[in-house]
Amino acid sequence: CCASTPCISSGGTAVYEAVKQAIEAEGLQAEVEAVATGCVGPCSRGPLITVKMEGREDVVYEQVTPEMAARILDKHLRSKPVALDDKMLPADWPFFVKQKKIVLADSGTVDPEKLESYVARGGYTALGHALREMTPEEVCEEIARSGIRGRGGAGYPSGLKWHMVRKAPGEKKYVVANGDEGDPGAYMDRTLMESDPHRVLEGMAIAGYAVGADQGYIYVRGEYPLAAKRLEKAIRAAERRGLLGSRVLDSNFSFRIDIRMGAGAFVCGEETALMASIMGRRGQPVPRPPYPANKGLWGGPTLINNVETFGNIAAIIGNGAEWYASFGTEKSKGAKIFALAGKVNNTGLIEVPIGITLREIVYDIGGGIPGGRAFKAAQTGGPSGGCIPAEYLDTPIDYETLQKLGSIMGSGGLIVMDDQSCMPDVAKFFMEFCMDESCGKCTPCRVGTVQMHRMLDKITNGTATMDDLKRLEELCLMVKESSLCGLGQTAPNPIYSTLRYFRDEYEAHIKDHH
Ligand code: SF4
Repeated sequence: CCASTPCISSGGTAVYEAVKQAIEAEGLQAEVEAVATGCVGPCSRGPLITVKMEGREDVVYEQVTPEMAARILDKHLRSKPVALDDKMLPADWPFFVKQKKIVLADSGTVDPEKLESYVARGGYTALGHALREMTPEEVCEEIARSGIRGRGGAGYPSGLKWHMVRKAPGEKKYVVANGDEGDPGAYMDRTLMESDPHRVLEGMAIAGYAVGADQGYIYVRGEYPLAAKRLEKAIRAAERRGLLGSRVLDSNFSFRIDIRMGAGAFVCGEETALMASIMGRRGQPVPRPPYPANKGLWGGPTLINNVETFGNIAAIIGNGAEWYASFGTEKSKGAKIFALAGKVNNTGLIEVPIGITLREIVYDIGGGIPGGRAFKAAQTGGPSGGCIPAEYLDTPIDYETLQKLGSIMGSGGLIVMDDQSCMPDVAKFFMEFCMDESCGKCTPCRVGTVQMHRMLDKITNGTATMDDLKRLEELCLMVKESSLCGLGQTAPNPIYSTLRYFRDEYEAHIKDHH
């Protein structure tokens, strides 16, 4: 039974209790186990339950009610002809078969609150392998050879970063997992932390060994209490089993992980602000260099990666760099998690090989646009990203291509828009977000986002002139060039990309345009 936030919010807890009760009532405890798992994927169809039987294909049911629990047992265990087919998601459903699950491989199967469940599926063997059979340098090299790039947005090669931290002089080094995801519509990190917390911890411990750190922090977004609770439980269980803490797996390597909770500021996802927050200071960015790899937490070399990046590490060490590099494109390896949202039939969480086309995501996995309407654009990368219009539906999704199109891969938000969406409105939505989240430290972003929002408001309510549009473009450039951190520097991106592809829509709103 999916026990991730989306399914819980649609009544999943009652379904799980009903399944447990049905098993007990029918005396089936020896044959059937009810497991509260992590995310299955098609989140808007919850509550979801998956029937797993030895030697048979998994069967997933959607919109399950407590009342259906006993009927599902009857159908599968007693082979009774119970009418449930309309709630059954077909095994060959493109939503499932077109994905390539690496980080989410066990999400929906393991019990995130039981260490044994993770260990039973090979959990922590990669950590053991790294500690017993690899030098720290070899681990960094393996990560470099896999070609994995940071999953938090910028796509910096992870192996390079690991090598830098390993070589940086410093007695005390740190590993930080950034779980402060805040893009509107994005919930990849939350789902991973809720669904398979040990996978993140194992990745962090391998990183700690590789770079020479004995302390790790997971920075969890304040609005993710369930993720924090499960991570906390996982850390304690791993410590009890000698998988974290002092002398990990009886080696000379010690690694402690602590959780730090955010307090609702989007800017704390920026690495310098995040570190300030961990150190108990106000979460505001500072100029770089120095980069965290040289001078991070309390002045020590610090490796900061997104939680999804850490989620890939055990699979890379366990299966080898070549295996990982066999997925993806020449320059962007592996798979990427996206939160598929907006005007698309199948919304939810997906993990796809990098290089898949937008068309496959929207029409095969996503099942097309509701009501048979036309696809207009997809926004990737949240408020720092941009939109990809219909003419690029067949372009592969990878770091370079998206950048060329004026967007970014970002952390994985993917919002689909149909032919009814007004693009200046979309830009205004993201600008409002940036305006609210600007930390206020530097003037171009603090004042510029407010002014850009005002101009977009004028445009969308039909009172702007062509001069306003010209001024908006000038202001975008100024904010981009002179803001201190990524939030301000990328805030104009949604305006740039909507203007690039949908300038006619802006002009249609302008009163003196002929
Ligand atoms: Fe703060 Fe914006 Fe300046 Fe970043 S760019 S430091 S968020 S005011």
